[in-house]
Amino acid sequence: MHTEDTIAAISSPAGAAGRGIIRLSGPMSWTMAQSVLRPIPVVRPYRWLDAWLVEIALPAGLICFQAPRSFTGQDVAELHIPGAPALLELIMEKLLSNGARQAEAGEFSARAFLNGKLDLTEAEGIAATISARSSHQLRAAASLRHGRLHQWVKQHADDLADILALVEAGIDFSDEPGVSFIALDQLQRRIESVSGAIQTLESRSVSWEALPAMPAVVLLGRPNVGKSSLLNALSGTDRAIVSPVAGTTRDALSLELTDASRSVRLVDAAGVEDQNTAMANLMNDARRQTLLRADVILLVMDHADTPVTMRTLLDEVRDANAWKIIVRNKSDLSGGLRAAPAEHSLPWINVAAKTGLNLPALRELIFDYAYRQAPMAEECLTLNGRHQHLLRQAQLALSRAEDILKTSGQFPELLAADLRLALDDLGSISGAISSDEILGRIFGSFCIGK
Ligand code: GDP
Repeated sequence: MHTEDTIAAISSPAGAAGRGIIRLSGPMSWTMAQSVLRPIPVVRPYRWLDAWLVEIALPAGLICFQAPRSFTGQDVAELHIPGAPALLELIMEKLLSNGARQAEAGEFSARAFLNGKLDLTEAEGIAATISARSSHQLRAAASLRHGRLHQWVKQHADDLADILALVEAGIDFSDEPGVSFIALDQLQRRIESVSGAIQTLESRSVSWEALPAMPAVVLLGRPNVGKSSLLNALSGTDRAIVSPVAGTTRDALSLELTDASRSVRLVDAAGVEDQNTAMANLMNDARRQTLLRADVILLVMDHADTPVTMRTLLDEVRDANAWKIIVRNKSDLSGGLRAAPAEHSLPWINVAAKTGLNLPALRELIFDYAYRQAPMAEECLTLNGRHQHLLRQAQLALSRAEDILKTSGQFPELLAADLRLALDDLGSISGAISSDEILGRIFGSFCIGK
């Protein structure tokens, strides 16, 4: 990637806006920005400078940023001018004829990355912010942009680099008897700790590709409390199977619910399975992912529920970063409901799917909470396919390293090789190691001006 020329692009959103911004980056950016202004302002970095556009009697502002204290790490200039598209095009033409080059998609962020201002995950966060279609995606993109994954990678790559250095030092001195830089059991513990951290990250994260484009509302409750009935009654369809036999909902059923202008996705979480079969594990995994991705969780109960079942439900959703609402179904039945929601601070509502009692109020409650912004849970990160692949690779290399250690550390060179592979994989997540092809793919997905 060429970075020595000066690039320019309109970086305010497309369409007529009050103010338009043209951004330049590169060694000539200040001079080029000055060239379209009269009187030519004397540059004082980080200060707003008032001027007029050359030949057109319109006011303009200029802010200059000095390398390396700028977004791209180069000298940067921002021209603030009235936002008419034709005017922005005209000024761009002047800049290009004065020697600037039209920036390609993502080129500002790519320069920031190449100058160490951003790591790859933060750059991905910028791209993801631009293309986000829901508050869920926006939140996840913000967490990338703010460097949460970058920090995680840095911490564990540093650990791994330390371990590797100790192993390699041991190899270099292997001729000298009695020189050992780290005891085997200590080595094992440290490798396990990194590998455990990767496992925790993976199990606590949701997959970017699976992020819902609309809020997800998950119904959770014992079999037979009436989840499918509620799903049907709320949406006015017969899609979910309603059955008096417990455990009939085998898969996560989902359908869309709309009010005047908004939509939510209603999801019936797959039932809990106690058996340790492959199928049960798959279903429990799907259920966990469904809960982690939820914006709202409806804890559905009926008259057979007790404070104990309530506590079990609450336990299950403890990690989910979602609004939780207790829905007491079957309130048409006599005998009342035993679980007392009053002892919890969660909002609750009495309904009956069968008679339609309170269903409009429940709908309203659902939309109300689905469109409130829930704070991002600390531990939960969103990983894209690239991150997941590299984490898996690192995990594999580490488990090979652990296997080698189990043969009492006979092969320190092999051990070092696997540790280095794992370190490379972690490094690739933040772009410490990356091929042009991968960089091209990531920055190519940006839009021009970013
Ligand atoms: P799920 O297993 O939680 O999906 O429960 P279902 O929706 O399959 O319902 C289980 C049984 O409870 C069915 O026989 C329903 O007809 C019944 N049911 C559901 N909602 C109500 C309700 O509000 N009142 C009454 N009396 N029965 C209901």
